[in-house]
Amino acid sequence: MNRDVLIIGGGVIGSSIAYYLAKQGVKVTVLERDRIAAHASSSAAGMLGAQSEMEQPDPLVDLCLASRSMFPQLQKELVEVTGIDIELNQAGLLKVATHEETAERLKWRGKWQREMGLEAIWFEPYELYDKEPKLASRSLGALYLPNDYQVSAPKLTRAFAQGAKQFGAEFIEHAEVIEVQCEKEQVVAVHTRTERYHADQVVIAAGIWSQYIAELCRVPLPMKPLKGESLAIKPSYPLIQHTIFAERCYLVPKADGQIIVGATEIPDEMSSHVTVKGVNTLLQAALELVPELAQSEWKRCWAGIRPGTNDGKPYLGKISLYSNLYVACGHRRNGILLAPITGKRMAQMIVDGSVTFDPAFRPERIWIGKEVIG
Ligand SMILES: Cc1cc2nc3c(=O)[nH]c(=O)nc-3n(C[C@H](O)[C@H](O)[C@H](O)COP(=O)(O)OP(=O)(O)OC[C@H]3O[C@@H](n4cnc5c(N)ncnc54)[C@H](O)[C@@H]3O)c2cc1C
Repeated sequence: MNRDVLIIGGGVIGSSIAYYLAKQGVKVTVLERDRIAAHASSSAAGMLGAQSEMEQPDPLVDLCLASRSMFPQLQKELVEVTGIDIELNQAGLLKVATHEETAERLKWRGKWQREMGLEAIWFEPYELYDKEPKLASRSLGALYLPNDYQVSAPKLTRAFAQGAKQFGAEFIEHAEVIEVQCEKEQVVAVHTRTERYHADQVVIAAGIWSQYIAELCRVPLPMKPLKGESLAIKPSYPLIQHTIFAERCYLVPKADGQIIVGATEIPDEMSSHVTVKGVNTLLQAALELVPELAQSEWKRCWAGIRPGTNDGKPYLGKISLYSNLYVACGHRRNGILLAPITGKRMAQMIVDGSVTFDPAFRPERIWIGKEVIG
């Protein structure tokens, strides 16, 4: 089967790249080992934390801000193309401090963000409780980030995939890539257990598993798994309006009335089960933050693996050892936020090379001074 572009991985990143390619008329096939949005992309709380996640200015902040700004238009576009509403909630995010040290750090963060022209407002406790009256009264204040919106992560992923299909892309589920055939400087075929695929260009977008696909091409792409457990509860009436990001947990109110409570961080762990300890830690932290949550209905819990890298930045771009191999992975805690800009720029890079990413994201950055496997 010959296609213009073959994408390995049907999470939010692979689906976004497929969407922006197919929209330009490129013939795309996505090979997905399990189901679309089966892994990290359905585990995410959907925060678009371009300001909340970033400790200091750097190229990743610029990329996150550029991606965040795409969401309002993207929501309308995806509804028009697919009928799927990604549930963009624009109430903003409150980054709450319960220790002096945190309050000082958040005030400093607000300062450099305002100097960049961003909105970041420090709320004293009385202003915070005015905004969120159900918060327990032990907070020392909060940094209000009105433009750190949130969406439904599974719906965003499905909307990208559905949109891509409507523009002609093909998604093949239960198609695990087990071999990548390379000759000289070219990827000539990609094998699943049952089929062999040919394409002009190949993109690795397999989340934390990208390192194994890269190994099949003899390309080193070290990744650092960061497991996260979350749970969902449903109060009988709305208790909070904003995303509340505190020191020990975050609460993200969703369109259906559920609140996502997240998330643990377990380094170097690839298992997908939820631990009792994880649930206990999250519930305790959530109840300390908003005691009335105790009466909520229990819904469910889950775990996913954030695809991390050693320097915390994603790998985005072409693998220079090959004439037709690209990679887009390693988005760690921000893959939902970064999906639109990743998809749009990767697509343009593949179509005509007119767009590149900041050198900070080049996959080659990790090889400097090291020998490549092949
Ligand atoms: C608990 C938790 C909370 C999070 N919260 C947020 C948040 O609020 N905001 C945010 O922006 N981000 C958040 N994230 C991070 C975000 O979920 C990820 O960065 C993002 O989903 C990564 O997307 P991906 O497409 O790279 O990976 P994935 O969604 O993991 O997709 C990779 C796909 O590749 C497939 N695959 C693997 N191997 C093969 C193979 N051999 N052949 C074919 N297919 C293969 C897998 O089956 C999988 O479906 C969170 C993550 C977790 C775990």
